Amino acid sequence: MTTLLVSQRNFESHVTPTGHPERPDRLRAVDEALSREGFAELKRKDAPYGDLNLASLVHHPDYLEALRQVRPAEGLGRIDEDTFISSGSLDAASTALGAALLALDAVAMGEADNAFCAIRPPGHHAEAERPMGFCLINTVAIAAREAQRKYGAERVAIVDFDVHHGNGTQDIFQADPTVFYASSHQMPLFPGTGAPSETGVGNIVNAALSAHTGKDLMREAYEGRILPELEAFAPDFLFISAGFDADHRDPLAQLDWVPDDFSWLTGKLMDIANRRCGGRIVSLLEGGYDRQGLADGASAHVRRLMGKGASSL
Ligand code: ZN
Repeated sequence: MTTLLVSQRNFESHVTPTGHPERPDRLRAVDEALSREGFAELKRKDAPYGDLNLASLVHHPDYLEALRQVRPAEGLGRIDEDTFISSGSLDAASTALGAALLALDAVAMGEADNAFCAIRPPGHHAEAERPMGFCLINTVAIAAREAQRKYGAERVAIVDFDVHHGNGTQDIFQADPTVFYASSHQMPLFPGTGAPSETGVGNIVNAALSAHTGKDLMREAYEGRILPELEAFAPDFLFISAGFDADHRDPLAQLDWVPDDFSWLTGKLMDIANRRCGGRIVSLLEGGYDRQGLADGASAHVRRLMGKGASSL
């Protein structure tokens, strides 16, 4: 089993205001955690720049230019109440995309069995026509389209276990039966979308979880609904929007997941990927705002991707 870790060296180029939860220190925490001894077998690569013009695969043709126009020469530009852009933000977004595309290439070409990309800013809230929720471009959506365009994948699945609903990914693919999108998320919570009644053209599955519900309801949501529908969709390629803000320590949400829950879920997704698409998984970091919760969740997730079984955390 070869798991590729793609790290983003210029992650500090994307600056947010002091006290903002989506901060460069998040990636330092992930880097430190995945540098420990138990991760020595990871194949490691640094993210190259990705072509931001590929944003037009999923965003409005004017979207990138609009981001460039709001980007300040120095200091911070404000896109909405909690979404900011700094002079280096598009550099960071470009390497986040470059990480995802490098991981896609490596897994599609069989150079790695699966891959995890430690990247920021996150992407799953960015809609076809609107950046929001700390997200500038929808990295996982672009990578999913590239899997179709470059590697001929007919059916691509995205499973999103970030504690927030990925309204952007749903917005982009809700009328496209070739892309399956499933999300588990706390509800009510930002951004307010993700009701189970939102099913797209039969390609969207939303599992809304109440605050302070832990592993039993989470496992019920996956085993009862998301996993059977994913299996039935039979994807050629599986992407994961891996946010770790469902951790019980996270300051932005109140689901009570523990690191073993991320490990369990990762194992279930791997089982389906093994049966349906040769195990091909590319996982992209989304949220996670408690430093230790993020580090522990990402460790459990990557340890399982490496085939190391249940987390000992
Ligand atoms: Zn989130």
